[in-house]
Amino acid sequence: MKKTALKLTAIAVLTLMVACKEKSANASSKETTALINKEQVIDEPVKSILTAEEQVNMTPDEIIGRLKKGNENFINNNLTRRDHSEQRRKAMIGQFPKAIVLSCVDSRVPVEDIFDLGIGDIFVARVAGNIENEAIVGSMEFATAVAGSKVVIIMGHTACGAVKSTIDNVDARAMNMNSLADLMDEIRPAIKETKMEGELTSKNIEFTNAVINNNAKLTANNIREVSPTMAQMEDEGKIKIVSAVYDMESGKVTFNKK
Ligand SMILES: [Zn+2]
Repeated sequence: MKKTALKLTAIAVLTLMVACKEKSANASSKETTALINKEQVIDEPVKSILTAEEQVNMTPDEIIGRLKKGNENFINNNLTRRDHSEQRRKAMIGQFPKAIVLSCVDSRVPVEDIFDLGIGDIFVARVAGNIENEAIVGSMEFATAVAGSKVVIIMGHTACGAVKSTIDNVDARAMNMNSLADLMDEIRPAIKETKMEGELTSKNIEFTNAVINNNAKLTANNIREVSPTMAQMEDEGKIKIVSAVYDMESGKVTFNKK
């Protein structure tokens, strides 16, 4: 893919040189050059998927580095082109994803796109407010201890409706939504954890963002407590469990240290 990109750049440069010599044909040459310069339009799409060997050879830190680079591509509107038909066929052999991301269900948080990833790259678990429960932790144990993923990311996001509703004490039980009320109870500890002066409602963006970040951090800690297997794998350096927050406006994912 890179080679093709280089070739195309070379063609673009040559076209530019020709355009300089032939002044009379300037306008049309410039147009051609502009078209060729859009490498992403004519670049070869990615056809391969992650292999077992690639998964084994990556360290947790390298994977986090790649995810950050992918996030830069997303921010710059420069997502990698993928041949989904070809990737789908190759993925039938098996999967070797490098990470599992726990995200909120929010429709404005397209997890694979945010990290510029596609078929076979990551596991994604989703639940409103990105809290952990038995099924989520079980999915993570499968992803890491069984399927070989080396990074667990708990990713909250700005303007999270589940967190905002919990901050504002929306009474889901009174509206006959007991399961939603139970879910909001899981978010509540993050509010207690957030010490701040001033108006403590969702109108206070600084406070809300702090709660969102604490909620992701607490979820990461809870996962370590609930899963001795993953906690041990982390202690041994085999996996990393990290919390992060996705900024919906900028597109940027900011990772917490731990
Ligand atoms: Zn949300």
